[in-house]
Amino acid sequence: MRKDFLPFAKPSVSEDVLPEIAESIKQGWLAMGPKTIEFENVFKNYTGATYALSMNSATAGLHAAVASLGIGEGDEVITTSMTFAATVNAIIFTGAKPVLVDIDAKTRNILPENIEKAITSKTKAIIPVHFAGLPCQMDEIEEIAKKHNLAIIEDAAHALGASYKGRKIGANRGAKHLTVFSFHPTKNITTGEGGMICTEDEECAENILMFRQNGMSKGAWNRYSAKGSASYDILHPGLKYTTTDLSSAIGISQMRQLDSFNERRKQLVAFYMKELADVSSLILPPVVPNDLVHSWHIFTPLVDIEKAGISRDEFMAKLKERNIGTGYHYQALHLFSCYGQLTGLSKGSLPNAEYVSERIVSLPLFPAMTDEDAKDVVQAIKEVLK
Ligand SMILES: *Cc1c(COP(=O)(O)O)cnc(C)c1O
Repeated sequence: MRKDFLPFAKPSVSEDVLPEIAESIKQGWLAMGPKTIEFENVFKNYTGATYALSMNSATAGLHAAVASLGIGEGDEVITTSMTFAATVNAIIFTGAKPVLVDIDAKTRNILPENIEKAITSKTKAIIPVHFAGLPCQMDEIEEIAKKHNLAIIEDAAHALGASYKGRKIGANRGAKHLTVFSFHPTKNITTGEGGMICTEDEECAENILMFRQNGMSKGAWNRYSAKGSASYDILHPGLKYTTTDLSSAIGISQMRQLDSFNERRKQLVAFYMKELADVSSLILPPVVPNDLVHSWHIFTPLVDIEKAGISRDEFMAKLKERNIGTGYHYQALHLFSCYGQLTGLSKGSLPNAEYVSERIVSLPLFPAMTDEDAKDVVQAIKEVLK
């Protein structure tokens, strides 16, 4: 058995962030300023987006994105139940109602036909979540959005570096289409905490620029720097959602490593897929189609609990006894008290999400993981599920 505990996720931050951070400290500019503008530019180049707007989290980004479309009280936004709470909290805090629909049990992504069935005269937007980094069926979703005049906000918290049919997630997709990324330490890159909104919609971008700084028409960098002027107006109230230059300095360094991080994730996943193929009580994620690039934020097989004779939670506990950390993404949101009450959904409402929710487990996966670490995981699983 391995001696030290292997966590399910761990960020890799290289030492080259230190001079970047030192520069910010020496300049005396710690809040959003030149480093953040540089980070946004790096991000624009990487994704091909016209606007890349940094935020202090993806939660803030999702909230600002929904609000930037003028969505609020009396409106409905359709999303998946198989996501993190932030996706629906962002909807709820604009005053709109989240409408949760079922997923494809294989891909764990929202099913376009379920979106279409849930559309009412109040529906204003769709939030697809690229689960684990596997892009959703965007052609079908964009077609539905066009037909019903709906906005799209891609929750790409898992999908930095992923591509759909040759285009990067985050690339320009026209008006009323926004994509939100997360830089929480478990995600494909980290800034400590942080997020980014990509869009080519100028009106949304302008709304977000103000929303993230208390509604002010100009940020501190444009007011207090040598070229700035101090006056500003407030057209609508906003919140404080800007990030810091200290975080952005880390982000600039992380973006240099993103592709190699994702390559390592892919190698580790290939190893898991090969070595775990003969474990009959584990249901592996589907093989990635050729026209998609998966960013492998998490590797999430399902425990076939009937065959295994143990629950997912027991499986996780037994791996922990063997010093293997795991995660659990996610409990279907409609099974939480708060969202069940809000949506009127309960156990039985969304069978695929519930099936996945009961069986899914996230195995250790992060760029600094060694081949030996991955072998330890496989060995422990084979002991537990023999
Ligand atoms: C992590 C995550 C978020 C929230 O990201 P933060 O940066 O932590 O706010 C939103 N949606 C999904 C699907 C996530 O995994």
